Amino acid sequence: MNQTESEILSVTPVLEALSSLLGTGNVVLPGKELSKNLQNTSHFEAPNVLGWVKPTQAEQIPEILSICRQHHVPVYTYSNGLNWGLGSRLPYEDDCILLELSNLNQILEINEQFHYAIVEPGVTQEQLSNEINRRGLKLILNVTGSSPKSSVLGNTMERGSGFLEHRINDLKGMEVILADGTIIRSGFWNMEPSQREIQHFPMGMGPDWRGLFSQSNLGIVCKGVINLTPKKEVQKMLWCKVEQAKMPALVEAIAGLYQRHYIHSVTHIGNDKRMKIEHKSAEQGTTWTSMAMIQGSENFVRFLEEEIPVYLEGLCISMGFLTKEEAEATELGEIFGCHVGIPTDYFVRAMYKSEDAELDPNDMQIDFGKYGMLCCLPVLPAKAEDIKAAIDILESIEHDFGILPAATLNPMNDQCLESVINIYFDRYDPESVKKAHDVNNEMIRRFYTSGFRFYRFDVKTLHSYINPENTHWKLVARLKKALDPDRILSPGRYEAKN
Ligand SMILES: Cc1cc2nc3c(=O)[nH]c(=O)nc-3n(C[C@H](O)[C@H](O)[C@H](O)COP(=O)(O)OP(=O)(O)OC[C@H]3O[C@@H](n4cnc5c(N)ncnc54)[C@H](O)[C@@H]3O)c2cc1C
Repeated sequence: MNQTESEILSVTPVLEALSSLLGTGNVVLPGKELSKNLQNTSHFEAPNVLGWVKPTQAEQIPEILSICRQHHVPVYTYSNGLNWGLGSRLPYEDDCILLELSNLNQILEINEQFHYAIVEPGVTQEQLSNEINRRGLKLILNVTGSSPKSSVLGNTMERGSGFLEHRINDLKGMEVILADGTIIRSGFWNMEPSQREIQHFPMGMGPDWRGLFSQSNLGIVCKGVINLTPKKEVQKMLWCKVEQAKMPALVEAIAGLYQRHYIHSVTHIGNDKRMKIEHKSAEQGTTWTSMAMIQGSENFVRFLEEEIPVYLEGLCISMGFLTKEEAEATELGEIFGCHVGIPTDYFVRAMYKSEDAELDPNDMQIDFGKYGMLCCLPVLPAKAEDIKAAIDILESIEHDFGILPAATLNPMNDQCLESVINIYFDRYDPESVKKAHDVNNEMIRRFYTSGFRFYRFDVKTLHSYINPENTHWKLVARLKKALDPDRILSPGRYEAKN
């Protein structure tokens, strides 16, 4: 929507000041375009949003914050805003201005020897992956299953997970803008410039404060040093299928493989609802499909191909090790690609397929589509009885409400799994929307009362699971008061309600 000068001048003074700083083309006023972009795949009701600004240079951010502070208006910061299932671009509280960083999209450096890239928040996983390939570097970007257009740094700030690792474990350094406009850098990066490559020693000296800025509202991250994984000679995808009853034992066996450093990725284990894309026949009982990556020299991979089946003996209906070409011949090429740093919208398409629908191939933006999704994201210990308890909860949801959640239970290491459990629903049918929300809340409650805890929450459910009296959240409140006394940065995000 084009906005005229007179429209801009008729808005609140804060937007007027932001328009003269950023140019009218980078400020969106309340209206059709803003309302459209507050739609979100989870069908959460949007709070009142005053406007939407998109700086083109990081240097504009301190000035934006200064204007907002003068006008007592907070900003809600995000990178590309594809936080699907958790609220997308929605702030937690009313009367914020959206601060989108997608125009800060420069790859500032890629270092092959020390395997890192320095990126701005708008850099997409597709952009960084393409650049690594264009330069012919033997490096793998740890991609997620989300959109190729999603942000490497944005996902890291939400503590998302890639196919190889937790994204936060890839964060070697960061540049952050505080609420008062101060710019700080972590580790040695903060010291006087050095001609040496220093980003690969993340802690520097003294307190390491990087952890304060993920899942928080204490600063705006405007640059990140992101670890990349050196590519070895051979990569293969370890793939197996198990009956549901064998899942607990499979997870413990996989924990053993992590202890021996045999697996070089997160393991994704999806139920039939998740794997619908494989066209499973209805007669079979519930099965789970597991995928992970192994890599190394030819000899090492050959050794793993002999050794791993011994550990999985008696557990799998079928299993194998696929090369890239073999994966491509069996519909699994794009999943193989995710393990070697090539992002895909396969999983976005798969979500629609599991509802027997197709997403417009030219617009993979699920925030505006017919089908919606909600998330329940518990951490599970890598222990047979906990896996059985989690599967029992999923079964109880299907039994009590007739909805089978699409689930992946993902071993990250030998200790824990991050699960991604989704409920899909028809956004055009109000009854389906209400039922999905009720059932998802009930599923979260069942996991919680059964002793599980959650690694991420959506904008609407978060506060029901934060106890302000807990000393953790009291410390967070003290830090907020010290760093952002005017509360102009993303109020309500991962903090107790005021
Ligand atoms: C089919 C499907 C598959 C998915 N697969 C995955 C997956 O494999 N792994 C995964 O983690 N998620 C996954 N998601 C969820 C989600 O889409 C991703 O997490 C996505 O990367 C988030 O969008 P974004 O990268 O644009 O981040 P943003 O939406 O920009 O950021 C996420 C949040 O982090 C904070 N933030 C962002 N940037 C900054 C900054 N610069 N400074 C301070 N705070 C900031 C904001 O609060 C923001 O709301 C999936 C979703 C779907 C529908």
